[in-house]
Amino acid sequence: MAPLNGDGSPAPQFVQRCIESNCHQEYSTEQRLYVCTECGGLLDIVLTGDIPSATVLKATWRDRRASFERVDRSGVWRFREVLPIKDEAAIISLQEGNTPLYDARRSASYCKLDSLRLKHQGCNPTGSFKDTGMTVAVTQALILQSKLVACASTGNTAASLAAYAARAGLPCAIMVPSGHVSAAKLAQSLDYGAAVIEVEGNFDGCMATIREISEELPVYLVNSINPFRIEGQKTVAFELMEQLQWQVPDHLVLPGGNLGNSSAFGKGFREMFAAGLIDRQPRISVVQAEGASPFAKLYDEHSRHPDLLKLEPERDPHTLASAINIGAPVSWQKAWRAVNETTGTVLTVSEAEIADAKAVIGRDGIGCEPASATTVAGIRKLVQQEIIKSGDDVVAVLTGHLLKDTDYTGKYHSGTLFAVAVESRFRNEPIKVSGAVDEITTVFRRLIDEREHKSDELALQQT
Ligand SMILES: *Cc1c(COP(=O)(O)O)cnc(C)c1O
Ligand SMILES: [Zn+2]
Repeated sequence: MAPLNGDGSPAPQFVQRCIESNCHQEYSTEQRLYVCTECGGLLDIVLTGDIPSATVLKATWRDRRASFERVDRSGVWRFREVLPIKDEAAIISLQEGNTPLYDARRSASYCKLDSLRLKHQGCNPTGSFKDTGMTVAVTQALILQSKLVACASTGNTAASLAAYAARAGLPCAIMVPSGHVSAAKLAQSLDYGAAVIEVEGNFDGCMATIREISEELPVYLVNSINPFRIEGQKTVAFELMEQLQWQVPDHLVLPGGNLGNSSAFGKGFREMFAAGLIDRQPRISVVQAEGASPFAKLYDEHSRHPDLLKLEPERDPHTLASAINIGAPVSWQKAWRAVNETTGTVLTVSEAEIADAKAVIGRDGIGCEPASATTVAGIRKLVQQEIIKSGDDVVAVLTGHLLKDTDYTGKYHSGTLFAVAVESRFRNEPIKVSGAVDEITTVFRRLIDEREHKSDELALQQT
């Protein structure tokens, strides 16, 4: 196996280490493990060797942007000095990462912020941030010579795994809660050739079952409990900082479901800080939907009773933002560490707040899937609560693509997403006409009129 460092220096060493402070048991990266065999704690991948200096790393990563090498084209593997895989030939990649960071003027004004930036992870090959972790997890599956890769999923992990498994030529099984996965996500998994197992019940049930099975069979489990997935996802924080020219924002805001993404960003920023790549860390805040908010409840509970730190799973979580409809998040300890270390916060937003925020993000010409919009809804609330100041530098992470759940979006704009009591504030219904020229002319005239009177701008300002 050749070392991966660009300058020919020996590749750094990594171990898997239990995150529990009273344990810290270490395991080699060649062991197929998801939790500590001593205490059941989650595992972190830890760098034990040296990496090049911050200056050298920044220059290496920038230079790779101009490279045509396969691994350099990936926004994940471009940062391979901080990744625990040394066998370059094994890498399974769809050129993930390299996602845009947008200035979102309307979303900013909706939140009453001077500016707001949106890091759009929905622009990954299968339309969600899951690809940035899956490229590493599926590569590791090959290295471990796994016979089958598997996951439980609300849809996006499944679509992502299905694609990477297809690239790797590995059989793949996905377990999804029957009737609770969007048509688009299901269609992806089917086309990529995965065995799609529809299970009665919810995501948490699928997760518990698959963990049990993976103890018995030589199956490689790639849910975010898998520490290699978190490694890939942490590179998004590196890419973001590079895009910001290493100027750290004040706040970073993410949606929280199984809490792997929040864990990964936390780890990424912690490592960048330790390596001297950045001089401070942003406050990392997590937003959940009211109906699926065990982590927010933990945060509240802990602020009242600081000696209490135990997540109480929710038995029957309910949100239309299906990607975060999770009651028993597996990575909560790691996400807690991210929020706590950076003095961030955890909050909830309502279904109507999510839906309206999603439409506002759409009006910026960006768009996202419902779960992603919790960020803008949450930021708006945090500005109202003065936890975020209007002049602060804020980045929100959009996790999935608008086309992941068109059913939701269609219903919002026709006013049928909720019971009639809840308004779609930014409803935009199709205009039905007979086809007569004068009828359509009237519509066009109205649109020109509105532009002249800037009434559309006002609609957003008044909110
Ligand atoms: C997976 C997913 C989430 C939740 O991320 P976690 O790591 O489970 O917290 C949010 N939004 C989208 C679109 C997702 O696919
Ligand atoms: Zn342990």
